[in-house]
Amino acid sequence: MDPRTCRASRIELDADALRHNVLALTGLLPRSSGIMAVVKANAYGHGVRQLVPLLAELGVSYFAVATLSEALEIRTLGVDTPVLVLGPVDAECLPDAQAQGIAVTVFDPAFVSRLRTSLKSSLPRLKVHVKVDTGMHRWGIGREEEVVDVLRILREVPKVEVEGIYTHLARADEPDVDDAERQHERFARLLARLDAEGLTPPLRHVNNSAGFVRFPERSYDLVRLGISLYGIPPSPRLASSFAFLRPVMRLTAPIAQLHLIAPGETAGYGGGFVARRPTRLAVVPLGYGDGIFRALGDGRGEALVRGRRVPIVGRVSMDALFVDVTDVPEASVGDSVVFLGTQGTEFLSPWEVADRLGTIAYEVLTQLGPRLARVLRG
Ligand SMILES: *Cc1c(COP(=O)(O)O)cnc(C)c1O
Repeated sequence: MDPRTCRASRIELDADALRHNVLALTGLLPRSSGIMAVVKANAYGHGVRQLVPLLAELGVSYFAVATLSEALEIRTLGVDTPVLVLGPVDAECLPDAQAQGIAVTVFDPAFVSRLRTSLKSSLPRLKVHVKVDTGMHRWGIGREEEVVDVLRILREVPKVEVEGIYTHLARADEPDVDDAERQHERFARLLARLDAEGLTPPLRHVNNSAGFVRFPERSYDLVRLGISLYGIPPSPRLASSFAFLRPVMRLTAPIAQLHLIAPGETAGYGGGFVARRPTRLAVVPLGYGDGIFRALGDGRGEALVRGRRVPIVGRVSMDALFVDVTDVPEASVGDSVVFLGTQGTEFLSPWEVADRLGTIAYEVLTQLGPRLARVLRG
């Protein structure tokens, strides 16, 4: 048994919600296209061990991660669905990718010579996807000539199989879609040229979650869906386009102790909370050591108790925090306090939390720490 499950502060994962999201998103896909489930950073904090086997069962076509070790973790779960590493892989580790059937990204022509010298002839061919820079200027080969050259050369490298080609949209979530449209156009022009020269790899992919709802007709062979799979829109602006999703995660912790504090008394480090009225203060065993940002203290963040919103008060410490439950008189020790997700009819979205912190939902989710058990339900 995972001893982490003895801690009531945990992440609950709703398998039915995940199933619903995969089916609903699949329903929007053109027939010829499949889902590449992006599960980097521990499946956006949700838990790779819990969600990847389920996603594989649900029939996603491919997984994407940022690093080779994330890809190897998927293999240790006994999942043999194809996996692509989106980020750089050290040349000396390429044989591990070969051995485990993991595809890697070629985003730099200089990488081709490293493939020549590092691949093992005794192992299966390494699958590669060529990454094209159509304007994001992060990973990718920018000049069309260079992409063509790299594809030509890769065809001659023993032990390499060119399986895919892709690019990434920098501004798919913005109100103005012109920039994303231009990137799509550039990619389409490149593909037309590759088609003419017989160089187009079988798997072409561009869209992330935001790109997918805006350019569903440009889904090509795969769409790289991350945040939407977990039931969260890629931007609050696109919430209505993703209203059909169901959030997979609930972050919950119990009320472990209750204190009655008289006006003028203080609580927590630095006396950070000062009672202005007779106050019922609940202590919750969850802190910044679990990824609850300290900046949510002093009334800046909220939680749900008995389906009602209560403020997070005082200083958030590493392993504990306070919520003021004075206005929820029936709140008792053992009640569950929800920090992300639904309770009753209330919903605390990671975008709402992110907004209070001046960041994005992606960061809120990926900060959730390894001390929290991820418990799959349903
Ligand atoms: C993270 C990532 C995605 C997934 O983006 P979402 O907005 O979560 O859907 C897709 N493609 C690449 C290259 C990524 O790095």
